[in-house]
Amino acid sequence: MTVILRTVAEVRAWRRALPAGQALGFVPTMGALHAGHISLMELAKGRAAATIASIFVNPLQFGPKEDLAKYPRPIEQDLALLERAGVDALFLPEVSALYPEGASTFVVEEDVSGPMCGAVRPGHFRGVTTVVLKLFNIVQPDLAVFGQKDAQQCAVIERMVRDLALPVEIMRGPIVREPDGLALSSRNIYLSPEDRAAAPLIYESLQAARTAFEGGERQAAMIAAIGRKVMATDARFTLQYWDVRDPMTLEALTTIPAGAGALFAVAAHLGPTRLIDNITV
Ligand code: AMP
Repeated sequence: MTVILRTVAEVRAWRRALPAGQALGFVPTMGALHAGHISLMELAKGRAAATIASIFVNPLQFGPKEDLAKYPRPIEQDLALLERAGVDALFLPEVSALYPEGASTFVVEEDVSGPMCGAVRPGHFRGVTTVVLKLFNIVQPDLAVFGQKDAQQCAVIERMVRDLALPVEIMRGPIVREPDGLALSSRNIYLSPEDRAAAPLIYESLQAARTAFEGGERQAAMIAAIGRKVMATDARFTLQYWDVRDPMTLEALTTIPAGAGALFAVAAHLGPTRLIDNITV
């Protein structure tokens, strides 16, 4: 049975009742769960005796023109998936349970949250770091699992955990994809049939870049040009960025250093839907 906890006090009481010394694994989400989310729950279960997920559509990380109001909230379906995955508890707070009236304290990471999604979604990562620190304080997990799908979010949270000496281990789970390469996302349900058919182009652009890298190309500008050229073959896409960066610091690379990896990361609008994806080489 997945226990549903709705208040901070309920989570604290549940946490206190866990056997002493038992590791707690945590997977924060915004719900509309899919196989990508469930893969993170499986990773947590493999590493921790007890597991808890959260579902919270965090208003603080949405811009004024973004999809907060229409974000999918299929809670019954989510609960069934959590039950089936054997997750022990779900933290399902109302907005008022997490943000008291007049809340005026925020967490801001000022380096890795700057480029990429940080540049095109002002305030987004401030919302993420604030809610994640808050969730960590409430849940007090030993381990928290995040998806590589949101590579920048992983880097920002890892930096916050290091900088603030938070007593939690961060683990990254690999990207789960549809058979045609499209990364699973709660937002994929916004795609019209035509947009859904076009969407795998993002992964194709990453694969074309990977092929160039594997062929010996190390100039970031050349690799990005290859990726952007693939994206430009379909005018339905509006590209926000197609970048080659250091996977940890997210600094823009000029040349991919020998023996070191690189992150190839894309964000694009397809109709009304914003999609992101990445690979590391
Ligand atoms: P979200 O509900 O979109 O906030 O995502 C919750 C967590 O699931 C985040 O750590 C995401 O990076 C992760 N996630 C989302 N999509 C995928 C995917 N396709 N594969 C693996 N993890 C994912």
